[in-house]
Amino acid sequence: MITTQPRQIASAYDVVIVGAGPAGLAAALGAREQGAESVLIVDREREAGGILLQCIHSGFGLQYFKEEVTGPEYAERSLEAAIEHDVDILTDAFVMDLTEDRRLVLMSPEHGVVIVRAGAVVLAMGARERTRGAIQIPGTRPAGVLTAGLAQKMVNLHGYLPGRRAVILGSGDIGLIMARRLTLEGVEVAGVFEIMPYANGLGRNIVQCLQDYDIPLHLSTTVIDIHGHDRVERVTVAPVDEELTPDASRAWDIPCDTLLLSVGLIPENELSRTLGVRMDPLTNGPMVTSAMETSVPGVFAAGNVVHINDLADWVSEEALIAGRSAARRVTGNPHPADNIRVIPGENVGAVVPQSVSSDRPHRISFRVNRPILEDAVIKLGDVRRRRVRALAPAEMATINIAPRLLESFHGDALRLDAFAAAEEG
Ligand SMILES: Cc1cc2nc3c(=O)[nH]c(=O)nc-3n(C[C@H](O)[C@H](O)[C@H](O)COP(=O)(O)OP(=O)(O)OC[C@H]3O[C@@H](n4cnc5c(N)ncnc54)[C@H](O)[C@@H]3O)c2cc1C
Repeated sequence: MITTQPRQIASAYDVVIVGAGPAGLAAALGAREQGAESVLIVDREREAGGILLQCIHSGFGLQYFKEEVTGPEYAERSLEAAIEHDVDILTDAFVMDLTEDRRLVLMSPEHGVVIVRAGAVVLAMGARERTRGAIQIPGTRPAGVLTAGLAQKMVNLHGYLPGRRAVILGSGDIGLIMARRLTLEGVEVAGVFEIMPYANGLGRNIVQCLQDYDIPLHLSTTVIDIHGHDRVERVTVAPVDEELTPDASRAWDIPCDTLLLSVGLIPENELSRTLGVRMDPLTNGPMVTSAMETSVPGVFAAGNVVHINDLADWVSEEALIAGRSAARRVTGNPHPADNIRVIPGENVGAVVPQSVSSDRPHRISFRVNRPILEDAVIKLGDVRRRRVRALAPAEMATINIAPRLLESFHGDALRLDAFAAAEEG
């Protein structure tokens, strides 16, 4: 992997980007292509690339690079593009603070504490995993309980196995990918347990990571107890009812030395909150306009920090918009303000962006709350209606909207609904 360290950090940049994952790298490219003269990306890790560096499986890039690549290859291509566009990349440096007038306080072993001024900022800090504390499983606190992403880092980057017999709680993509990865490394995976009545990962991962390896998936079942003193010795699992309450009378024990948690990601927004950015309780990320601008003028955001994406390709595309918008702002050519809010309606959990403008095309991303197994309808007010095969909470869905569709629309808000075609009155 290529890493670059600017010999000196300038005191001011047109655009400063926090995070060098796929979002940060694409935002930098977008900013340079749109005319920003100086762009700096800062990342706390030693190498740029973000979470992709530990995702050594393929399945990335079909949309963005029109070719299937692994996570590290995707990161490397994105990094090369940024370097070709003369972006300064400062790794091993942590952004500690960001003020409303866009001063960033950075700390790095090489440069010490440095203050950098930015014409515009793009927040691209990604997300972190929910831990045992977040879901409050009772029981003892032995070694061997870890998040699936941490196990992925141990195995793929450091060459350690987390244990010999694992149970996986949660059917998110990281857990599914780790079920396969651990099996390939000789660890016995006793099963994946999911509290919801449907899987939470992409359909392709259920097939390629569980079914192809005969790893059982238990839906509507959860871990209710962890046993062991120094090390996990077994876990107790139990089926849950429709209210997700476990039925302890039907519980059973599974001997194992490892419990991996794959129970969701939380956007990493400490910086955004300190800055006072307006947050969306539905995404746990900043509210953004169609230019990916937050409520603090000149501060943009993209990627998992805004909402949890299932594909890196979506992240890069959305970050290109954020980077271009940041450059438009510093070159004095911003997009007109949005004039239409987008509101989640029937069976829609959250939408991004939360507003659009009638002067240009947009793609609106959302997730459904409940799966629609066949023949689903996505309806955006009365201006757009689209039929799709199915919709699942695990898979981010999108709907495009073109200015011509809004010509006869005179309201200030569009409601987004998703339902089964059979339910349509
Ligand atoms: C296990 C796993 C498997 C996946 N599999 C696929 C797949 O097969 N196909 C696919 O398309 N997508 C996949 N994804 C999704 C994809 O990897 C993510 O959607 C994408 O990496 C998110 O990009 P990001 O730039 O928003 O965040 P990240 O990649 O998380 O990057 C954020 C960066 O910001 C840095 N940072 C955070 N805070 C600070 C700070 N204060 N100062 C400095 N730096 C900071 C972090 O160090 C990190 O490098 C997978 C994800 C995971 C976790």
